[in-house]
Amino acid sequence: MIISTDFQAFNPTTNKPLDGSYQNTTNSQLDAVVQQATQDFDIYRKKDKSEIASFLEEVGKEIMNLGDALLERCHLETALPMARLQGERGRTVGQLQMFANFVREGSWVEAKIDTAQPDRIPLPKSDIRQMLLPLGPVAVFGASNFPLAFSVAGGDTASALAAGCTVVFKGHPAHPGTSVMVASAFEKAIATCGMPAGTFAMVQGNTNELGAALVSHPSIKAVGFTGSFAGGKALFDLANARPEPIPVYAEMGSTNPVFILPEILQEKAAALATGMANSIAQGVGQFCTNPGLAFIQKSASSDEFCDHLTQNINEMPAGTMLTEGIGKAYAKNIEKTLQLKSVTEIAKGKKSEFENAGVASVFKSTILNYFETPSLSEENFGPSQVLVEADTKEEILKAARQLEGHLTATVHGTLNDLENYKDLLDILQLKVGRILINGYPTGVEVCHAMVHGGPYPATTAPNSTSVGTQAIKRFVRPVCFQDYPSFLLPNALKNENPDAIMRFVDGAFSDQSIN
Ligand code: NAP
Repeated sequence: MIISTDFQAFNPTTNKPLDGSYQNTTNSQLDAVVQQATQDFDIYRKKDKSEIASFLEEVGKEIMNLGDALLERCHLETALPMARLQGERGRTVGQLQMFANFVREGSWVEAKIDTAQPDRIPLPKSDIRQMLLPLGPVAVFGASNFPLAFSVAGGDTASALAAGCTVVFKGHPAHPGTSVMVASAFEKAIATCGMPAGTFAMVQGNTNELGAALVSHPSIKAVGFTGSFAGGKALFDLANARPEPIPVYAEMGSTNPVFILPEILQEKAAALATGMANSIAQGVGQFCTNPGLAFIQKSASSDEFCDHLTQNINEMPAGTMLTEGIGKAYAKNIEKTLQLKSVTEIAKGKKSEFENAGVASVFKSTILNYFETPSLSEENFGPSQVLVEADTKEEILKAARQLEGHLTATVHGTLNDLENYKDLLDILQLKVGRILINGYPTGVEVCHAMVHGGPYPATTAPNSTSVGTQAIKRFVRPVCFQDYPSFLLPNALKNENPDAIMRFVDGAFSDQSIN
């Protein structure tokens, strides 16, 4: 169900409104949508796993059926290049397929069976079985910087639907036309697959009130959020203040520290600087995995690295940022950093006069100034970096120990470096969701082993990921069935194991039936 129309989308390249108008969903409309999602959860959660898998595939097909019109509208609303949007559509559809395969395979429900021991002395043991079951209707919020892959049909929606939850999606006001198109793909897939109407619904709005009302609705059982720290934290606090608090999986910003170790810096300072400059500027820096913070140790090679980084960044053309608000916030933060005595701006991308131009910028700080200036560790969403120069390994380790939670940390090093800095890697394991060796944090593979998460403040739920199949676990809870008659048990827990899934039976993994 789509509730539409009363605000407009803006073209970030002109700041002028685009065709079409969209209505802020009213409280009573929101209530009706959530009621429907609640009522239909009871039908959807009982669907066979193959029906859910086929539905996810059908959504993907309908998104492809929207053709280039979807990408063109999305390009107008976000200024993201067509090639990037084509890739993002592929990722979105691929993600739906990945969850379809995962659900069809079925073992993700983590069935555990402890068979009864009626003759156990001194007391008989009951038959105890456990599996993961869906939480209920969930609220999902998308981010502006991934208008397809972290939006209407993005990973949060796909994983919640795969888990058997119904979804009420809060459309991002930066791309409402794109959102309406993708929501129409859901409507068609729901009809084709015979799913209940409330399986998926989108509400739109351009005020914080709508999102707050959605999270506060008593029937909503969990929240998936991708976006800013301010937004995620506000919704997390709201969810915890409800009479019935609910889990909020908010994936928020991060500065993704990069550590470049001494020997590799000596071997390839120029190549490292080029790679770093490209990662800083990729997508006009509008990635939650952007390398906003880097550490090096002072040496002749560190000067060479800085010189190359400066040359590369100085040549970077500006790009259009996603919205006027994001463009202004980025420029304001750069101005604030320029006022600090503790840093020097060592590189600045090419100046541009067009609207919402995001110009790359690198600031350099000594490690002592960095320790004394907390704002240097904060995310400035855009193509900027704070490069910190330390004198000793101990200072690098101290900086690592002081890090808050991040989505990623990256270490560049030769094998010798990595051996000599094992203690750094040990510290980083406590600080981030993903550690990369000799790479760049931008770019997140969608796969089973991915973790796109991390300790607070990168997320509000450090035991989860928003990318990869493990994301499904956010929307389920374990339920235990004790001495249940076989005919009432879900398939996953029946002795016959009709779906032939892998289960943990009496302490050992098995895909066999139980005699
Ligand atoms: P955003 O401004 O926080 O918006 C996200 C959604 O939350 C929107 O629907 C917004 O709608 C709503 N919202 C924001 N504040 C709210 C509040 N106080 N109460 C209720 N609803 C609220 O984020 P964005 O601009 O789209 O994205 C940029 C940020 O996302 C960056 O910091 C980036 O690093 C981060 N990001 C993180 C990831 C990740 O996976 N960790 C991925 C992509 C982006 P309204 O404005 O209408 O309320």
